[in-house]
Amino acid sequence: MSGNKQIAGGDGEWLQQSLEDDDQEIYQIIRNEKERQRCGLELIASENFASAAVLQALGSCLNNKYSEGYPGVRYYGGAEYIDEMERLCQRRALELFKLNKDEWAVNVQPYSGSPANFAVYTAIVQPHGRIMGLDLPDGGHLTHGFFTEKKKISATSIFFESMPYKVNQETGLIDYDKLAENAKLFKPKIIIAGVSCYSRHLDYKRMREIADENKAYLMADMAHISGLVAAGIVPSPFEHCHIVTTTTHKTLRGPRSGMIFCRKGVKSVDPKGNKEMYNLEKPINEAVFPGLQGGPHNHAIAGVAVALKQAMTDKFIQDQKQTIANAQHMAKLLVDRGYNVVTGGTDNHLMLVNLKSKGTDGNRADKVLEAIGVACNKNSCPGDTSALRPSGLRLGSPALTSRGFKEADFDKVADFIDRGIQLTLEIQQVIGPKAPFKDFKDKLYKDEDICAKVKSLKDEVASFASAFPIPGFPLL
Ligand SMILES: *Cc1c(COP(=O)(O)O)cnc(C)c1O
Repeated sequence: MSGNKQIAGGDGEWLQQSLEDDDQEIYQIIRNEKERQRCGLELIASENFASAAVLQALGSCLNNKYSEGYPGVRYYGGAEYIDEMERLCQRRALELFKLNKDEWAVNVQPYSGSPANFAVYTAIVQPHGRIMGLDLPDGGHLTHGFFTEKKKISATSIFFESMPYKVNQETGLIDYDKLAENAKLFKPKIIIAGVSCYSRHLDYKRMREIADENKAYLMADMAHISGLVAAGIVPSPFEHCHIVTTTTHKTLRGPRSGMIFCRKGVKSVDPKGNKEMYNLEKPINEAVFPGLQGGPHNHAIAGVAVALKQAMTDKFIQDQKQTIANAQHMAKLLVDRGYNVVTGGTDNHLMLVNLKSKGTDGNRADKVLEAIGVACNKNSCPGDTSALRPSGLRLGSPALTSRGFKEADFDKVADFIDRGIQLTLEIQQVIGPKAPFKDFKDKLYKDEDICAKVKSLKDEVASFASAFPIPGFPLL
């Protein structure tokens, strides 16, 4: 280090080193993960590739700033630019979803989707108050109140009382009649309209009617579909819901974060002209901070603002349309190859494929697909009796669509999936159909003949996938 530099940078200069110079171990791990992302086929329905601009905001100096509180009312000084940034993010959020600022408020501070949901329950439902959400095995999310006979799994089911509603086990479609019947008995404070694995539009209108009959709030959790909603190509939950929560990193393609929208202003006017006002904004804001969170993640909020601006462009809308077109195309290809796609297809970015009729299950197929570089999730299917052996795979198109995949490219993707599943069946044939999962994995990872086949498929996947661009930075 030169004498001059020492004067200018002092001992702090090492804190300006690049990651590569500073920490080779983490640098290499990130490089490896980037290679994995570049060479694989990403079909996890909740994942996406954030843009370089979003990642730059995430890696910015905003990470350094504490700003507990809200714009204009902070517990920390020096928050003038943070205020400006958070307000801009809020304005963009309302504009993107075409919401009037006199009728809707938005909180952009939730650290992610799960904390956003918990903040709403904390604000609106008393401890051990009641909520109803779609059951996890039926396509709902953990935070909608999941529990089993043995254990309360989600904190939502520990601190609140949850009663799930379900899909019809034959059709795979939400049983709204049953929801209406049970809501009448259970009298929930909140009904949640939101899904992590459901390929059809939700009937928000019907759900609002059910909520109204029981004086419940209707909350949409549009975590998966917020990009599609933003593009205006699936029904918007805002028309019928009181509260809407979302993540920002799924179809919306932003950083990992969360948002809560809620109605404000006049709720109703009685015959005498007396107005009843909504009381959601204040309790929700207080639940987020100081109730559950501390300092906002300002770098993430800035990244959300960037993603929201991108989401207002024609390019984004085109991408979202392509996302659905790709998913529908892939669903059709799989049906044509004899796969049982639950509900027969998809209205959105994902599908659930039940492998039972093919003679295998989600656990086994998922492992083989992972080994060949195709990433997706095992998932339970309607009619499954064992949670330990889910019958299906959840496949989604958002991430690959962000890499520029079109329908014709999904021909190839569907082919790789099919070949992975054929290989799954081949392994099962060798070890016998009843062989335990451990034997299956042994064969998959240790058998010479199988490993050679896996490697050759994986190489094919990699050479296909790596030809497509990948959003973000070139190396990291
Ligand atoms: C992904 C998801 C969440 C949770 O988001 P995290 O950011 O993982 O906490 C909540 N609700 C639904 C419906 C989701 O799909």
